[in-house]
Amino acid sequence: PDLVVAVDGTSGSGKSSTSRQVAHRLGLRYLDTGAQFRAITWWMLHHGVDVHDADAVAARAAEPVVVSGTDPLEPTITVDGEDVATAVRTPEVTGAVSPVSTVPEVRARLLALQREVIGAGGIVVEGRDIGSVVWPQADLKLYVTADPSARATRRSAEEGGSDATATEQVLRERDRIDSGRATAPLRRADGAVELDTTPHTLDEVVDLVLGLVRD
Ligand code: C5P
Repeated sequence: PDLVVAVDGTSGSGKSSTSRQVAHRLGLRYLDTGAQFRAITWWMLHHGVDVHDADAVAARAAEPVVVSGTDPLEPTITVDGEDVATAVRTPEVTGAVSPVSTVPEVRARLLALQREVIGAGGIVVEGRDIGSVVWPQADLKLYVTADPSARATRRSAEEGGSDATATEQVLRERDRIDSGRATAPLRRADGAVELDTTPHTLDEVVDLVLGLVRD
């Protein structure tokens, strides 16, 4: 019941869908840490903070109150009590989230919150640094990847047929910043199982993960 599964990986690799399905099938809670970084980014934009000014972001990092609902079938996210589930998926937030996520004060704030949520019981947690920084003692750690073009094709389909080439550029740029930053860069954690989802359907990946949990 207190099983913790850490799912890290690149943007659009299928880690959200996989994590939610796995959590549902195992009766675990689910935490989307990317949504938390997006929520803080939304708050900064909403309050007119220059997201490219790390000092300005750091100065206000303690203010937003982020709350994540952990039902895998209906995950929720609020900031200062406001439901931002839809607002955090806009291109404006997506374009600003990587620089905001590099600010150590933002990461420290969310790290404390994430550890509090994980400590409360069994959960599947997805992000970039869960297995390396947030919860290295996780029972199972995954590093999920996929070809950039496969990721862009899936993401464009989710976005109702947006331009896949442009989407691929945005994903690559976000991966470049997420992997290259000094604090908690995206990388495969020690002991993490690497899963390339490119040739697989979602159901196949979910079954693979459930098999790993049972081993
Ligand atoms: O997973 P998602 O694409 O929603 O994450 C949005 C952004 O949040 C990532 O591009 C990354 O910059 C940041 N992030 C992070 N650490 C995490 C989760 C997300 O830095 N654990």
